[in-house]
Amino acid sequence: MLGGMQDWELRISTLIDHAAREHAGREIVTRWADGNETRTSWAGIRHDALRMVQALRRLGLRPQDRVATLAMNHSCHLVSWFGAIGAGCILHTVNPRLFDEQLDYIVNHAEDRVLIYDAAFQPLVERMRPRWPTIEHYICFDSAECAPSFEDWIGREDGDAQWEEGSERDPAMLCYTSGTTGNPKGVLYEHRSTILHTMAACQPAVLALEPRSVVMPIAPMFHAASWGMPWACAATGAKYVCCANNDPATLLGLMEREGVSHVAGVPTVWLSLIQYCDARGQDLPPIRQALAGGSALPAAIIERLMRSGVRVAHAWGMTETSPIMTIAYEPAVWDARDFDAQVRFKALQGRPQFGAEVRAVDLDDHSRELPRDGKTAGALQVRGPWVIKRYFKAEADAVQAEGQWFDTGDVAVIHPDGTLQLTDRTKDVIKSGGEWISSVDLENAAIGHPAVAEAGCIGVYHPKWDERPLLLVVRKPGMEVSAEELRAYLSDKIAKWWLPDAVEFLDELPHTATGKISKKDLRAMFADYRLEA
Ligand code: ADP
Repeated sequence: MLGGMQDWELRISTLIDHAAREHAGREIVTRWADGNETRTSWAGIRHDALRMVQALRRLGLRPQDRVATLAMNHSCHLVSWFGAIGAGCILHTVNPRLFDEQLDYIVNHAEDRVLIYDAAFQPLVERMRPRWPTIEHYICFDSAECAPSFEDWIGREDGDAQWEEGSERDPAMLCYTSGTTGNPKGVLYEHRSTILHTMAACQPAVLALEPRSVVMPIAPMFHAASWGMPWACAATGAKYVCCANNDPATLLGLMEREGVSHVAGVPTVWLSLIQYCDARGQDLPPIRQALAGGSALPAAIIERLMRSGVRVAHAWGMTETSPIMTIAYEPAVWDARDFDAQVRFKALQGRPQFGAEVRAVDLDDHSRELPRDGKTAGALQVRGPWVIKRYFKAEADAVQAEGQWFDTGDVAVIHPDGTLQLTDRTKDVIKSGGEWISSVDLENAAIGHPAVAEAGCIGVYHPKWDERPLLLVVRKPGMEVSAEELRAYLSDKIAKWWLPDAVEFLDELPHTATGKISKKDLRAMFADYRLEA
């Protein structure tokens, strides 16, 4: 017997149709890199996206052809998301912070036919062009000087077009992981996985979005679909505020002027915003919710935000999981907890939202599920309708079997109430005398010291224990702290045998293309480092 309900494919075009129909005038605000500010609306985005559908068809693009963007957060980039996907093409958001070898690899691997880019990336495009033979058409988002401009290109069309129809299981968007080892890998989101992730993400216990929300995603549109924020804003009719540069003064000014209620950014962005305000003795703008993810959000930042009355939504996920899987929303017992306990809870990676399943298995061969006892660390595995099944163009034998779990490469402890606590990456965890030390816990403890701006921890060779922790620290400008003072500070915050054997001070730490501390580079820099026995 079949069920009795209507067929309604979960396609991304339904999101923009809804936003333009039910929230037509709700604004999309862009502050461009040159300081100019423009405004459009959900109805305007839909009209322009339909014009882009016509323009793509005129270029001869067919469903499932790849359309790449190389751009910061702005309204034209948003148009191109709905336009490329609405034409049935696969939108490939290229991360401009990747290295040339990676840019070469992913564009050729994706076989992109069109590239739409910001004029600011013209030098990158000039440099890479000879290595990108598949790209037939270059279009520039914000200038007509280097290539046909986006505005002129879609400006010739009238928007009297239909979205490409198809199945909800069709591919829609391609995002590559930055690849801390080996080549980047492509994650191919589907219409259905995107819509289901969106519906989950809007809920009160996740992003808590509603029509009166004013959302500013600082998470770049080229990183894991800006954490799904554009889709979630369209679904709820939220006002969407974007900024093409990440300087704290500009961001804070925009938040203030536009009445921003929800901000999404990685911990380093939050840190820079808070440091900017604190250095000037000013408070944060009256935002209601701070979404953070991508790396662990230190307790010091959480406390600072909570004291300003901001609800902190610390989330965990990865490009392979669309990305949001767990989020530190308030549990039923929240009000019975004191402030410090609330901060400690928010510093963990939160609990799975509906649709996300998580488990920890033994680190040795992943054969045994570990107890949720808040103590035993294991390899984190996940499952759900927006979790990757196979990487783009993966060999047939790399496809997971039905019902199989995805190995995240993260190490985690799961607490009895289901809260996830990330303790490390499987390749960063330090093995000292057969016992595991979490490099992340050490970094978080160190970052609590008032003179520490940033900290990275790696394992280095030790003649007796095999590996011991080495802590690399960047001091805050004008502040002093010695290795001994830091070790003394850490001594009551972590287990004695975790204390780093050495602390070195650097002017800056190396970062990956997604702004995380690059442990790979740190390990290379300190490959010959010798600890005393
Ligand atoms: P990339 O590897 O390209 O930086 P991802 O954003 O997919 O891209 O990285 C996902 C990884 O980031 C996770 O596997 C995890 O290690 C880390 N991560 C994400 N969110 C958190 C968090 N809240 N706390 C700690 N680590 C996190």
